[in-house]
Amino acid sequence: MTKISTQLVQGTNGTDDANTGAVVAPLYFSTAFRHPGLGQSTGYDYSRLEEPTRSLLEKQLATIEHGTDAFATSSGMAAIDLVFSALTQSGDHFVCSDDLYGGSFRYFDERQAKYNINYDKWNGINVDDLLLLLKPATKLIWIESPSNPTMKVIDIEGVSAAVHAVRPDILIIVDNTFLTPIYQNPLELGANVVVHSVTKYLGGHNDILGGAVIVKDAKLADLLQEELTTTGQTLDPFTSWLLIRSLKTLSVRMAAHTANARFLAQQLPTLAGIDKVLYAGVGGMISFYLADNCDVDTFLRALKVCSFAESLGGVESLITVPYVQTHHDMPVGDRLALGITPQLIRFSVGLEDKDDLWEDIKNAVAASQTKED
Ligand SMILES: *Cc1c(COP(=O)(O)O)cnc(C)c1O
Repeated sequence: MTKISTQLVQGTNGTDDANTGAVVAPLYFSTAFRHPGLGQSTGYDYSRLEEPTRSLLEKQLATIEHGTDAFATSSGMAAIDLVFSALTQSGDHFVCSDDLYGGSFRYFDERQAKYNINYDKWNGINVDDLLLLLKPATKLIWIESPSNPTMKVIDIEGVSAAVHAVRPDILIIVDNTFLTPIYQNPLELGANVVVHSVTKYLGGHNDILGGAVIVKDAKLADLLQEELTTTGQTLDPFTSWLLIRSLKTLSVRMAAHTANARFLAQQLPTLAGIDKVLYAGVGGMISFYLADNCDVDTFLRALKVCSFAESLGGVESLITVPYVQTHHDMPVGDRLALGITPQLIRFSVGLEDKDDLWEDIKNAVAASQTKED
């Protein structure tokens, strides 16, 4: 197989079946498809079921995540919902790592309250502790690595091997939004399902909302396809096409995000106003604690290059305060126990010049040191 950069750039091209020689893939808006005759189909009937542009994208997503089938959804949350709707039922139990995207917890709590799908949290460290949480009703294990926002790295291979050794029926689900297939292929590490918010790195430009589910098993693929056909949370053709376009630069973007983030992860601890920096060593996500004498609101208002905004993974640098934004729905005690304090800043390092980013943070931290120590 060609390497991932070649696949990303060339994998969706040359599909123009009208023989125009178009270099890039065409975009189909049609919701309906003509049948040659009774009982015949081109493979496309109605766009909620299958749609040529989305199919092309899904094939590409399956290839880069080393799966067999992919499903493109209308948001990352729709991807998470697709997994739960297709693969769980009332009375099931699951275990998740304790530091996740806040919206995932909101979703899990709703499943628990309304549909009796209960869950336990695991700290992501000791796999034996995880095994102790398994019950006969356990259906799946949900992992994010590195975690959001505290950047804990979980041994996906170790978890998959240990769990499948005792319970081959339990599905290991990995939300691979932070590292992308450029740095991590969970299906190669023993996971059964990969989930993405493509709104983040795969889209990469802070202008696409979407999600994806990728599997390597025909039975799981059938269940997901059936659910998607039934509920219809599919990605529309235009966004699918934009995502095909975005994916072409994924490997260069990820390399540049990592280079900028590594530089900043080295620089940030040298500032007196920063207590601690959390970075997994790869990818573009950094978290850090502003010192207690720094005022968070003043810091945010003083930023000139980075935006104070609630997303990640795009070319534009975004800064978030998880305590009041992404993780606000989590009980205060849980937030503090995980290290999600009011002084914790999450930094999605963009592709601006690294020196400009450093200057921006340095100036904003200096401006924020207004409180008495
Ligand atoms: C943003 C995000 C989601 C939710 O995706 P949306 O596209 O916002 O619906 C899920 N998981 C992670 C890790 C995310 O960052």
